[in-house]
Amino acid sequence: MTTAQTRELDVQPTPLALLLLGREADPRSERGVECPGDLPSPSDPDLVERARAAKEKLGDKVFVLGHHYQRDEVIQFADVTGDSFKLARDAAARPQAEYIVFCGVHFMAESADILTGDEQKVVLPDLAAGCSMADMATAEQVAECWDVLTEAGVAEQVVPVSYMNSSADIKAFTGKHGGTICTSSNARRALDWAFEQGEKVLFLPDQHLGRNTAVRDMGMSLEDCVVYNPHKPNGGLTADELRAAKMILWRGHCSVHGRFSLDSVNDVRERIPGVNVLVHPECKHEVVAAADHVGSTEYIIKTLEAAPAGSKWAIGTELNLVRRLANRFASEGKEIVFLDKTVCFCSTMNRIDLPHLVWALESLAEGNLVNRIEVDKETEAFAKLALERMLALP
Ligand code: SF4
Repeated sequence: MTTAQTRELDVQPTPLALLLLGREADPRSERGVECPGDLPSPSDPDLVERARAAKEKLGDKVFVLGHHYQRDEVIQFADVTGDSFKLARDAAARPQAEYIVFCGVHFMAESADILTGDEQKVVLPDLAAGCSMADMATAEQVAECWDVLTEAGVAEQVVPVSYMNSSADIKAFTGKHGGTICTSSNARRALDWAFEQGEKVLFLPDQHLGRNTAVRDMGMSLEDCVVYNPHKPNGGLTADELRAAKMILWRGHCSVHGRFSLDSVNDVRERIPGVNVLVHPECKHEVVAAADHVGSTEYIIKTLEAAPAGSKWAIGTELNLVRRLANRFASEGKEIVFLDKTVCFCSTMNRIDLPHLVWALESLAEGNLVNRIEVDKETEAFAKLALERMLALP
């Protein structure tokens, strides 16, 4: 954020070091509130034992989900790990689990609540674990965008496609307007489907995934894409530009993947001759275009599993996952490095630390339901419709 923008918003940016440590909140990018109750001290030497004991006491009543980007100290207690959609489905397949503790961020817990049964309660250990990308598209902004599209006479030709990394409100908007959800694994299939339903796609909220899929995978040109900026009148676009576009990309991005640059790719190729560059499609288009392989977190893991001994890899995704993969495959002689030279954790993912997990598990074990994430029924119904369209994709 520039200083001018900060002044305009009248908020002070949180010092980066505090965000990286998982402390403090950035009011621009994070939803939620401070965690209620007494958190155990991070220096408590018994935290691991306390988490284990509380989980054991809860038994089958609790199911802990761990997103790939979570810290190791938390991942060790996950019953299952994966990307957000896989985790939500895993939770739905465990109806006997009354409590789903989601070690991830807010929109993931919402998706789990949408896909699990009414009797299952989803808990987010720290309510301030939001996602800056998901927060870049609010329900009001998207409704305004639809008015702009209607005014330009194109709304009827537009099919919304929303990335899983969006709030329940945005998923519901998508369901209501005949669209579908996509993940980074099935974005191509979702767009193929959408272009069978209409002539244009409104892609929310990650411009990079939308652009990369349209241009790299589907052969569209960069000129087929326009970017709708919710902070400008009419999205900063003329009616003619909207009429000419095939892909209307929401101006959102992931603050973690957005940090990788073409320089990061060139630099690592110079430092490590023969390195394979493997990046997530949330990276900028020039990074994706310069990479050797592009794919979701599941794709990244599978590619490294299949890689031969002695191969070298630079990975462009969140650092917790890259570090874990580097450790896991070191014994197989695979050299895995982080694509960028600077630290790149997801600060909001990192909010779920061991003290918050211990606090959530112990509270549940004592019969106190804390930090429940519950989507209202109407939103849930429309969001589910969009998710079901994704499940039905060929
Ligand atoms: S890595 Fe990016 S998209 Fe994922 S939770 Fe963090 S900010 Fe959101």
